[in-house]
Amino acid sequence: MSKRRTFIKHLLLQGIAIGVGTKLAEAAVSTFHRFDKSDNTDGFGFDQQPLPYSFNALEPVIDAQTMELHYSKHAAAYCKNLKEAMANEKVNADVSLETLLAEIDKYSDKLKNNAGGHYNHELFWTCMRPASENNSPNGNLLNLINHSFGSEAAFRQKMNQSALAVFGSGWTWLVLEGKDKLKIVQTKNQENPLMGILSDEQKGFPLFGIDVWEHAYYLKYQNRRAEYVTNWWKIAHWDYIENRLNQKINRLK
Ligand code: MN
Repeated sequence: MSKRRTFIKHLLLQGIAIGVGTKLAEAAVSTFHRFDKSDNTDGFGFDQQPLPYSFNALEPVIDAQTMELHYSKHAAAYCKNLKEAMANEKVNADVSLETLLAEIDKYSDKLKNNAGGHYNHELFWTCMRPASENNSPNGNLLNLINHSFGSEAAFRQKMNQSALAVFGSGWTWLVLEGKDKLKIVQTKNQENPLMGILSDEQKGFPLFGIDVWEHAYYLKYQNRRAEYVTNWWKIAHWDYIENRLNQKINRLK
């Protein structure tokens, strides 16, 4: 083969390689279409994501054994059972988790409980970080908190009261309503503010929730839910929560 022909052959092979690369890139984009912001999603998929820290990282607020059981047993079961229910009920594979929650009245209780359980816990893990004293929200989030509740202290007090008022198992949430209003919402069991079946007062975009199921705190705090919730503020991941707020507002523009 002449040098020139070898050169042309290399050019052709390169061209094919670039073409294949582009095809792979396109395939990757379409696979993840459901996480595209045009679909109004916030990025939680159907798989359980790795915990972003070790089981003991949130001590002394949440002990390692509670974290391990909570993540590896309770939350893992929601994820597994959600996929099982989706297969049984032939849910369209392209649907986003958020759409599924919005249209949850179309599905069984099993799917509802586990879709909520999965989403709620995926959000819960990302909204926590290792403890620090004087852990407080900043920026746009703090502005909206002040605007909606008067002060950060008043907001915390309302969230604490809301957490204590949940009867039995459930969650208390900070929810964005519209583009610029925050409200505190309670849901029972694994219901979630994105679920279409909830009342208008409960619905909105969840910025973070505090899990007040006993499985979230009972090993360390026994019946002392108030102490768990008061301590929880030391591990709130305010940077993530503010970023989540800002991204959501940008998607609404
Ligand atoms: Mn839980």
